[in-house]
Amino acid sequence: ARRRYAGRNPRSRERFEAAATALPGGNTRTVLYHPPFPLGIVRGDGCRIWDADGHEYINLVGEYTAGLYGHSHPVLLAAVRRALDGGVNLSGHTMVEGPFAAAIQRRFPSMELLRFTNSGTEANTLALATATLHTGRRKVLVFDGGYHGSVLSFHGGRGDPLNLPHEFVVATYNDPAAADLVDDDTAAVLVEPVLGSGGCIPGTAEFLSALRRAATRSHSLLIFDEVMTSRLSAGGRQAQLGIAPDLTTIGKYIGGGMSFGAFGGRRDVMERFDPTRPGAVAHPGTFNNNVLTMSAGLAGLTEVYTPEAAVALNARGDALRERLAALTAGLPVHVTGIGSMFAVHFTARPPTNAAEADRADPRLGELLFLDLLERGVHVARRGMVALSLAVGDAECDRFVAAVEAFLADRRDLLR
Ligand code: PMP
Repeated sequence: ARRRYAGRNPRSRERFEAAATALPGGNTRTVLYHPPFPLGIVRGDGCRIWDADGHEYINLVGEYTAGLYGHSHPVLLAAVRRALDGGVNLSGHTMVEGPFAAAIQRRFPSMELLRFTNSGTEANTLALATATLHTGRRKVLVFDGGYHGSVLSFHGGRGDPLNLPHEFVVATYNDPAAADLVDDDTAAVLVEPVLGSGGCIPGTAEFLSALRRAATRSHSLLIFDEVMTSRLSAGGRQAQLGIAPDLTTIGKYIGGGMSFGAFGGRRDVMERFDPTRPGAVAHPGTFNNNVLTMSAGLAGLTEVYTPEAAVALNARGDALRERLAALTAGLPVHVTGIGSMFAVHFTARPPTNAAEADRADPRLGELLFLDLLERGVHVARRGMVALSLAVGDAECDRFVAAVEAFLADRRDLLR
């Protein structure tokens, strides 16, 4: 399959090899690398993308949830063009950042006050720094398979070598007993309400409530990383669960497709950033309020991804997941996730944590990815799908048909 892929994509290979003279391995986003070389993408429109060799794909990667609006939403294009026409890098506060923050606050009431950053990584970095400052403690409880950014990544029960130097304790996702690890030295519990990169594995209400109670009991801060899950309802996963974290981090689609992140939460915690107060902490940041992000994000949240649109998008995802579940019934193939984000696992049972997800045969995951590409459907290499608003019934049908054909072609390998 790899040989066929290489044969079909000579221009992508050329791009890859040429870029390697300036970028390590031709790469500046590790998540996009896969052997023998990743595709070069030249254009996108709606839910379609085209690669350097002219192949067209239905884009179900959805930029790992950041691409919720599709590639060329007219409302966002208009907002960005207006902002460009007004000039960028304005050296001051803009008229859109306040309204954008207020729009987020209306949707996520636990974010009583918030600050913008340029990425989800930065949002989580700042949230943890804020928690250690607020509590005067250093320990941070995180979960195996958790991904909170390129300096906050946990796998195989450990942190990555590049991680920030907090005192991390890595627990098992969906294990309510992890709450017992929260004590009077704990500054924060940092958790994704659905393990995103770790396999679209929903956190149970029991697990997440246990963390909420433990954080309250020991006066540590519960941080929900909703960088991915903020799309699951108008108010994110926290609204669906009825659990209010002390701090929330968001990113991805909420910036309307531009570079974006934000962190926010309890007023008494976030007021530390208020520069009118004595002893305020500084959080400068040249691009925190960049006018392209602020404009696109505000237009997206208020005019496009309305609460009704959130219901419809996630219902589409649930329906699609049910169709896939019907196709794979009785096979060692499971589709986990919620609403518009899900992932395919080649495991005997649906995984409930990262270690269970890691038991999958990686060769089957790669075959699914490569086979679907040949059928004009682009899912993430790790088997993840994040729907955009541009994906319609016809695209869902084509995806289901492509998976059905994969299962038929590869049935010898799936016993
Ligand atoms: N948190 C989660 C849950 C994420 O999925 C990601 C990105 N995949 C991040 C944080 C980091 O966001 P960014 O890539 O914008 O730094």
